[in-house]
Amino acid sequence: MLKCREFTQAADRMLDGDMRLRERLAMRLHWLHCHVCRRYLRQLRQLLRSVPFMHGPASDEEVAQVMQHLHHQEKSL
Ligand SMILES: [Zn+2]
Repeated sequence: MLKCREFTQAADRMLDGDMRLRERLAMRLHWLHCHVCRRYLRQLRQLLRSVPFMHGPASDEEVAQVMQHLHHQEKSL
């Protein structure tokens, strides 16, 4: 099973459709089991829709920031 970090790093590639079936299935499996990554993907989609010019691979730092933000939200629920 993929780790959250692997999921988030590959997420933008998946949204681009630049992914093999096998990898896509692994992503889907993680997505089904991980509500944090489900929300990450939803937010990433919204972000890409609202600011398409920013679309590019997220840096490690950006991924870490988003994950930290999501985990923080998790606690405040
Ligand atoms: Zn995850």
